[in-house]
Amino acid sequence: TRPLLELAAITKTYQVKQGLFAKAKPLNALGGVSLCLHKKDVLGLVGESGCGKSTLAKILLGLEAPTAGKVLVDGKEIDPRERRHLARRLQPIFQDPYSSLNPRKSIEDIIALPLVVHDIGDSASRSQAVARMLDLVGLPARVRRGYPNQLSGGQRQRVAIARALIMKPEIVVCDEPTSALDVSVQAQILNLLGDLREELGLTYFFISHNLAVVEHLATRVAVMYLGQIVEEAAAAALFANPRHPYTKALLESVLTPDPCLSVPDTHLGASYPNPISPPSGCRFHPRCAQVRDICKTTPPPRIGNEGGHVDCHLYSGAAAH
Ligand code: SF4
Ligand code: MG
Repeated sequence: TRPLLELAAITKTYQVKQGLFAKAKPLNALGGVSLCLHKKDVLGLVGESGCGKSTLAKILLGLEAPTAGKVLVDGKEIDPRERRHLARRLQPIFQDPYSSLNPRKSIEDIIALPLVVHDIGDSASRSQAVARMLDLVGLPARVRRGYPNQLSGGQRQRVAIARALIMKPEIVVCDEPTSALDVSVQAQILNLLGDLREELGLTYFFISHNLAVVEHLATRVAVMYLGQIVEEAAAAALFANPRHPYTKALLESVLTPDPCLSVPDTHLGASYPNPISPPSGCRFHPRCAQVRDICKTTPPPRIGNEGGHVDCHLYSGAAAH
């Protein structure tokens, strides 16, 4: 079946100056990312901060243009000028419900805003829609007259979810939706997102630095390193049998006492490289526990399997000894 959403060879290059008199250098934030998302799937996109996850989310949402590559919805390429139309199909939920909600607007106005922006309905029908959304996300009707600072972090993220869903989108792009919340509240929000997916038949593009969070919801997982997908697989297969050494290291870090900490160096050796001058060969080689000579000079081949892939010399004939 045709994917609902397709990213085809997306690249994003920024010109970056390091120092006042330095010449601008290209920073390849995304180096040819291709991903498919089928209806009702939850694609978990995982990687450390700075790997390009949020850049990819912004491109998906039409907030940034790719340097090259295409975004297709239902097999049709999305033109940046079609963003108005796209908002009815794709809605975001961002990381920080503190900064993404306008403190001077009432909860009712915040949730109804997408309808106002897209000129949908009149004030009576918008008000009814807000009431339905509050019920859907488990907030009491009385909060509609309140303001963001009167709500807890979890309640604010419910407001952000209500605001996204009021557009009846097919796809929800969640960028670290629980990272700013306490661990106990994180579980509640993840459960809510899971319930809403069942109830409304939603499809999620779910970004997180934390594999434990992704494991909760994802049907597929893509692992990103320095702007490239290094492994993609069905979620069950990836958690049962991670193949890329980076995926394995991320999974080990999940087993540390505080899963909210970023990946500890104990598992990954050297720190995250500067994307302006990525390592030669396999970009992961300075941190890889299984590095071989070929990894330092030659980029790894893409080894495909059952709709997924792993990009690593360990799985090619050349280095498999
Ligand atoms: Fe490690 Fe080599 Fe595989 Fe890269 S290609 S992940 S360095 S084993
Ligand atoms: Mg981010």
